[in-house]
Amino acid sequence: MAGVIVITGSSRGIGAATACLAARQGYDVCVNYIRDAAAAEEVAGKVRAAGRRAIAVQANVGNEEEIERLFKAVDRELGRLTVLVNNAAVVGQSRRRVETLRAQAVNALLAANVTGAIVCAREAILRMSTKHGGAGGAIVNVSSASSRIGAPNLWVDYAASKGAIDSFTIGLAQEVAGEGIRVNAVRPGLIDTDIHAATGMPDRVARAEKMIPMKRAGAAEEVAESILWLASPAASYVSGAILDVAGAVR
Ligand code: NAP
Repeated sequence: MAGVIVITGSSRGIGAATACLAARQGYDVCVNYIRDAAAAEEVAGKVRAAGRRAIAVQANVGNEEEIERLFKAVDRELGRLTVLVNNAAVVGQSRRRVETLRAQAVNALLAANVTGAIVCAREAILRMSTKHGGAGGAIVNVSSASSRIGAPNLWVDYAASKGAIDSFTIGLAQEVAGEGIRVNAVRPGLIDTDIHAATGMPDRVARAEKMIPMKRAGAAEEVAESILWLASPAASYVSGAILDVAGAVR
């Protein structure tokens, strides 16, 4: 039943957990990454070990030509697309204030986190929309609790990029609702992945989890479960929803 799923940024973290769970649920998987080919191949190997097909494709979602190449590889090697998960995102160094930001760095962040998700959605719609001869499908965008909180003194520009993902989810869901495509988002809170070390805060989970009502960080697998539920026929009347996966953080 499942189909073909593209998960951007799935060589590690939430994307990798989603790829592995998707394989167990019967999807053939395109594992996308930007730098770590070995990690992406390892995830693809886990998909194959679960009995499904997998390809690992290097492509920067901040680059339109690379996104087009990614989707053409899926057409060629896996076939008709069923689900897109817009998961890849960059955060950058933590504890930056707006008066220190340069336009070039902000534009690079928005290119990956916002334009990349929109262009990936375009490629998915061209393949899935009944208006374009497709058979329908689902898009799940990965937002962040920071879109509600704003992340002052940490990464306001990243939070704003996730605010854009929330608005994009609401608008696109309505735009393609009559064309067989559902569009939803998950909004993770603090999730225990490598992203925190990459921002220069390797101890962030240990420091911040006591402030969470559930008193713990989430696991990548818990976000993956929500992503794949939204993608599945079990959520057939759910579109335009933004699901908080954040341990009761408000
Ligand atoms: P992560 O562990 O840092 O993994 C990021 C993944 O994205 C890697 O596979 C990386 O590839 C890939 N990637 C980065 N830039 C890319 C680009 N320009 N093009 C293509 N792939 C790219 O991140 P994560 O924690 O799993 O986060 C996944 C998503 O959840 C993101 O959208 C993030 O904003 C969101 N989120 C995370 C948390 C959290 O606490 N972890 C909280 C809220 C929201 P390489 O391995 O090749 O570098």
